[in-house]
Amino acid sequence: MSDVLPLTSSPTDVGRPAAEPILTVDGLQVSYGKVSALRDASITVAPGQIVTIIGANGAGKSTLLNAMMGALPATGRAEGIVRLRGERIDGWSIERRVTNGLGLVPESRDLFATMSVEDNLLLGGFRRYRAREVGWTQEIERVYQIFPRLQERARQLAGTLSGGERQMLAIGRALMAKPSILMLDEPSLGLAPKIVREILRIVSSLRETDVALVVVEQNARAALQIADYGYVLETGDVILQGPSGMLAQDPRIIESYLGVGRKRPEMDAHTPITLPGPGTTTEETAP
Ligand code: ATP
Repeated sequence: MSDVLPLTSSPTDVGRPAAEPILTVDGLQVSYGKVSALRDASITVAPGQIVTIIGANGAGKSTLLNAMMGALPATGRAEGIVRLRGERIDGWSIERRVTNGLGLVPESRDLFATMSVEDNLLLGGFRRYRAREVGWTQEIERVYQIFPRLQERARQLAGTLSGGERQMLAIGRALMAKPSILMLDEPSLGLAPKIVREILRIVSSLRETDVALVVVEQNARAALQIADYGYVLETGDVILQGPSGMLAQDPRIIESYLGVGRKRPEMDAHTPITLPGPGTTTEETAP
């Protein structure tokens, strides 16, 4: 049982009006052969909410996302209950989860390097094309509004993009499927400080598009700045959860994840993430 910080409201009330959860995970356990990677993890996500999962290397963060997505490697075995809008989905295929609104941007980003930016985006909407959904290609305009840099690079091969642009493309491609919950595995990994701030500002602004976000981050300080609610994973256990503002002030979090010794070089500890104002381009918002 994790330690829950005192709340005046439930996890689903934080950052949004009270709402039925869109996703719930109950007692999820995952093992790879004899290695137990996740024990009894339970999380709740409300529509339009940003939830972060923080924890050190090997804590089980990717395992949690992959299990929710039904995308564990062949050696992984999951037990527990995952519900989407109240319906049990833990027996569903990845394809069915995607069709019903779950999206995952893996740590590896998995782009098609020899295809153009635009073709990568179009592939993200393939299931909507196959379902003969009218007007699905218009989604690309919305993605270009969120990431003007991708429109500038539309014809460029994905393999020639910078690290930050690749992350933008991976998120943009996932948005092409029009998810109601988008899970991001370490969006800041390997990126320069300026780009980390830009990516996280954009991730934060996705809240306005009504997609709920589950963001896995080792960069706890940055994650708690953009999230409404957070869960702390330690060697397979959710040890603490609460509204992000309260987690950021919790002495255990400050000591283990926000202390000077733990600070990751990508992010200046004192740099607040501010959202871009209306009409601001990504170029203008980069400090
Ligand atoms: P990181 O931040 O380093 O990516 P994480 O918190 O995402 O770490 P996981 O990748 O979920 O952690 O790993 C959790 C545990 O499960 C670790 O002990 C890891 O070694 C183990 N593990 C992960 N994938 C596999 C696998 N395919 N086979 C065996 N063990 C695995």
